[in-house]
Amino acid sequence: MVQINPSLPSSRRFGRTATTGIIATGMVVLGSALWGLPPFWSPLGKAFGLRSHKLYVLPMKVATGKQVESIEGAIASSMAELEKNLTFGSPKFFQGKTIDKVLVSNQEKVIALTFDDGPWPVHTEGVLNVLRKNNVKATFYWVGEHLNNFPNIARKVIADGHAIANHTWNHDYHDVDKKTAAKELGSLEELIYKLTRVKTRIFRPPGGVLDNGLVSYAENQNYVVTMWSSDAQEASYPSVQGLINNVVNSASPGGIVLMHDGGGDRSTTVQALPTIIKELRRRGYKFVTLPKLLEMGEQDSTSKSTPTPKRAADTIVESI
Ligand SMILES: [Zn+2]
Repeated sequence: MVQINPSLPSSRRFGRTATTGIIATGMVVLGSALWGLPPFWSPLGKAFGLRSHKLYVLPMKVATGKQVESIEGAIASSMAELEKNLTFGSPKFFQGKTIDKVLVSNQEKVIALTFDDGPWPVHTEGVLNVLRKNNVKATFYWVGEHLNNFPNIARKVIADGHAIANHTWNHDYHDVDKKTAAKELGSLEELIYKLTRVKTRIFRPPGGVLDNGLVSYAENQNYVVTMWSSDAQEASYPSVQGLINNVVNSASPGGIVLMHDGGGDRSTTVQALPTIIKELRRRGYKFVTLPKLLEMGEQDSTSKSTPTPKRAADTIVESI
């Protein structure tokens, strides 16, 4: 959550002697700083209790030059904090590596829920509602075509404070050359930033395919390639209870759980999610985002971790 620098002056601390020119300066500074933010309740907008894409009027009547400087400092600090909160990467020792789980010290019971193939109508918001009610932060692996179609759903994911990862533009499985791989990852990376100001260097190949050129490109570009250690196996159309069992029975400390919020009808996943969260909590697990899990990882995680060598595990009703 963005913390606003407490030195940001309140209206009570402003003197009454400064000129209206200075007032205007303060207003324009804040307005300009927020102008470039996405048109939704951004974390910074939230912090200010304001909507973006409007010129914000500071709660003040007058401000001295020194106070304006202080405001500028507070804004710069808040913008830096905002950028940090919207950047999802990994410690250096995970960069360029492929992992399916993370070794955490003392086998701490932390686990990352991940949702692929969104943003998607109805089901992404269904997942978000369950996560919000249960105070869980997760990680969403977006597909470029879907993000392009449903940017407003994507913004809700960001507004709820979840982490974002790259799942390619087209969600194809076939072999690609370097140029195509660069386009698949790069064009989505650009769109994610354009629409949400998020920067992400976390990647998962569509279908979990490891040998079609995407993963080798991602590793060369120092993405961290994140597979999974628990698979809800929605592809086999389990019942709600089946899906719960698939996740809960394979959970492990430092684990990564693969589920889907997009690409088809995910109503079973939405229905199973409250029980999955409840049951994992009952077993002592805490939920973290993927980047948080990577932060908690021990340096030798990759050497002991075996990437899941399966193909097309998440190919289900890919309706697009
Ligand atoms: Zn996928």
